[in-house]
Amino acid sequence: MKILTSTYNTKYNTAPFSQIKLEDYKPAFIENIATAKAEIEAIINNPEAPTFENTIVALDFSGEQLNRLSSIFFNLNSAETCDDMQKIAQEVSPILTEFSNDISLNKELFQRIKAVHDQKDNLILNTEQTTLLDKKFKGFSRNGALLNEEDKLKLREIDTELAQLKLTYGENVLAETNNYHLHITIEADLKGLPDGAKEMAFFLAKSKNLEGWVFTLDFPSYLPFVTYVDNRELRKEMTIAAGKKAFQNNEFDNKENVKRIVELRHKRAILLGYQSHSHFVLEERMAQNPEKVQSFLNDLLEKAKPAAQKEFIQLTAFAKELDGIDQIEKWDGSYYSEKLKQKLFCLDDELLKPYFQLEKVLNGAFTIAEKLFGITFKEVFDIDKYHEEVQTFEVLDEANNLVAVFYSDFFPRKGKRNGAWMTSYKSQAVKNGVNERPHVSIVCNFTPPTTTKPSLLTFNEVTTLFHEFGHALHGMLANTTYPSLSGTSVYWDFVELPSQVMENWCYEPEALALFAKHYETGEIIPQEYVEKIKESASFLEGIATLRQLSFGILDMTYHGKSQTIEDVKAFEKKAMEGTSIYPDVAENCMSTSFSHIFQGGYSSGYYSYKWAEVLDADAFAYFQEKGIFSKEVASKFKENVLSKGGTELPMVLYKKFRGQEPNANALLKRAGLV
Ligand SMILES: [Zn+2]
Repeated sequence: MKILTSTYNTKYNTAPFSQIKLEDYKPAFIENIATAKAEIEAIINNPEAPTFENTIVALDFSGEQLNRLSSIFFNLNSAETCDDMQKIAQEVSPILTEFSNDISLNKELFQRIKAVHDQKDNLILNTEQTTLLDKKFKGFSRNGALLNEEDKLKLREIDTELAQLKLTYGENVLAETNNYHLHITIEADLKGLPDGAKEMAFFLAKSKNLEGWVFTLDFPSYLPFVTYVDNRELRKEMTIAAGKKAFQNNEFDNKENVKRIVELRHKRAILLGYQSHSHFVLEERMAQNPEKVQSFLNDLLEKAKPAAQKEFIQLTAFAKELDGIDQIEKWDGSYYSEKLKQKLFCLDDELLKPYFQLEKVLNGAFTIAEKLFGITFKEVFDIDKYHEEVQTFEVLDEANNLVAVFYSDFFPRKGKRNGAWMTSYKSQAVKNGVNERPHVSIVCNFTPPTTTKPSLLTFNEVTTLFHEFGHALHGMLANTTYPSLSGTSVYWDFVELPSQVMENWCYEPEALALFAKHYETGEIIPQEYVEKIKESASFLEGIATLRQLSFGILDMTYHGKSQTIEDVKAFEKKAMEGTSIYPDVAENCMSTSFSHIFQGGYSSGYYSYKWAEVLDADAFAYFQEKGIFSKEVASKFKENVLSKGGTELPMVLYKKFRGQEPNANALLKRAGLV
């Protein structure tokens, strides 16, 4: 079987998609896990004393076969799946979890790692090696490896309870989302709503055997409703329904779950020797500690608040003029924002799309990468692919050496999940003295071509392409020794810098001239459209910023220190006092359905959305200073950021690139807040 090994006898050792049969996967997983286990055993049973090479490096390169198999399988399970494949995923996921638990709880392995780590100061290691050693050690110690048996048991108990609480929290939010719908029977009540949304609501009603139209709290249904429906009472009903999820004193209420999750996270952090949950989380972030995050959020708040207040007054005046409303409420925000936006910009997608033909946009991204980093993209037809729509490219440097293999997969189809993402089939690393180049892929769901028109992108799709392409560059230009530090394997408040910074080129006339050409006439996009795109991108940005900051501050208030929470709503209201701009709604509570931080992995991490924006704006400001195609800035970016992966602390890498720490000025300027 082809996928039992990690070398495939294909061009560049690319994944042998066409030769894999579904039934190959499960036995291959079982056998590759056995191989990986044997590699770990060999490290443990090495009769020689633990060294950096025989323990840390050996561990980092172990499981290569399994990693390649997993990347092929799980990438395809996202991009080209079917029922049978999902069934296999269900079967192998627990086996993989068990295997990774076996490693992370392996005492003998940890003893060897600790033995190397204990001599750290006496070893001659370069920066990357030191980072690798710390990373491996922390991977165990943050999981309790240094605790005595009693405390280990406590930690497991906390983890088990936390896992259950997060699950329940999520189930409650889901149940409350599903338990509500708004049933409309009078068509006049839907005045203002676009046809597409109305049609969707009609079919939803039909599926429930109801007359008329049905709206739910799912985003694709909810958002158009509160943005476009003229009937203010109905918008109010819908907004309040969304805001009181899991806050209704019924069986799905999350108030007690919030309290318990916060309490257990704090206990867990203390047990592991940290001051708070935020201290624990931020140790492995660019921001490093809660104080830094707090001051980051407060600093932005201070600067964005006056702009937000001005916008609020503008919006209020507009609502007053239009409908005689004196006090705008939460259910008016999206509605009047959209109306005002249309009045000021009248920009619609159909007007712009002819200028954004997919092939031209993609070539534009390639040209920009060539101008900046000296790499070229050559489409090739002799690399195996998993679907006929996939394109394959050789990425070459100036000396014609292979930099990477690049796959693109752009259109929606059955079997592909929603959204857009970058991933890789093979990571970069130096193995036995050979710099093995990565195989990187971007997968999107763009507007497909029709029989009469090529694929024409919305502007949002254009920035999405550049965003994923930026992640891809991070993967493709990787140049590290160890696989676990390569490419996008960086702290997660740093990982969006390469992607978001690339989006900036989409707003620059000099860059747009390369690719924003009318698909029929070849005419370059008119300057007035470019201006409007820019202005509308920062429209009401103050209010939006305040909203993001309010979530970040709430998150940090819960997790930054020990908290005794009597009343969740009161606690939340106090935490968000300084960031609120709309009047409070008594029957609503954010915390009971804030799944990002209480169910998902964003606790003490919500700030990173804004953090990443500050970084990308600050980095791009450097390009603007020296010219957006400046080779000098680009090569600094490549040398210190793109190629370095997670080999050094992000702040150190960033300062080497930029010459100074990032500051928020560029973002505030770009967002029109100063
Ligand atoms: Zn991203």
